[in-house]
Amino acid sequence: MARTHGDVVVHTVPALSDNYIFILEHQKRNQVAVIDPSESKPVVDRLEDLGLSLDCILNTHHHYDHTDGNLALKDRYDCKVFGFSGDSSRIPGITHHLSEGSEFHFGDELVEVLETPGHTTGHISFYFPRSKIAFVGDTLFVMGCGRLFEGSPQQMHASLQKLATTLPADTTVYCAHEYTMSNAKFAITVDSGNQALADRFREIESLRSQKLKTVPTTMEAELKTNPFLRCGDGDLKRCIGMAGDAEEVEVFRRVRQLKDNF
Ligand SMILES: [Zn+2]
Repeated sequence: MARTHGDVVVHTVPALSDNYIFILEHQKRNQVAVIDPSESKPVVDRLEDLGLSLDCILNTHHHYDHTDGNLALKDRYDCKVFGFSGDSSRIPGITHHLSEGSEFHFGDELVEVLETPGHTTGHISFYFPRSKIAFVGDTLFVMGCGRLFEGSPQQMHASLQKLATTLPADTTVYCAHEYTMSNAKFAITVDSGNQALADRFREIESLRSQKLKTVPTTMEAELKTNPFLRCGDGDLKRCIGMAGDAEEVEVFRRVRQLKDNF
């Protein structure tokens, strides 16, 4: 299934057990990008079905389930590979080195790079302000956030706050895994008084029972229902037994711990 955002069409390709790869097509400028190719075969198959070539790979971080398809795709299409400058040695085939504030064009569309460390120390997100879409890898999930494999709670909290303040509420957000049902089950345990969350839980349950995707999401929906973005909320703090004046980052640390042991 494809979604159109301004001049950019996004095709979602399920891969491995629960990964999503995204193929981006700028139809007017005849440009094609792929985000986080965990595997090359499903990408090649979809590109062939669509009659497309490939101009560039965009990697949010170095994990194998986001980069394993890089070299085969680079070989086949002679495409560019964009990734975090500090992870040059960990991103196979990297040709373009990015960091906070880097900008490049996809077709005639400006792409902004945000450093969003926490899941890994070199995680980045791609924001397309004109089309109002963002690709956040394993930083922000539907009603969840990435595990802290390399970064600290402070880093991840700051990264999520950066996304919350940089991306307007009507931004469509594409994350890299279908983790939504388990995230939703956890979220209602730490934010039990949240009516928007209770409503969304039922929607998600219905989508997943039909094996439908819950990605993409929007910033608006996440701000209302994602516990990792609601660490300043008094009801959520009460729900997990923390004082009303507890610092947000401490609340985040606690919520992340609870999720890790859920
Ligand atoms: Zn990862």
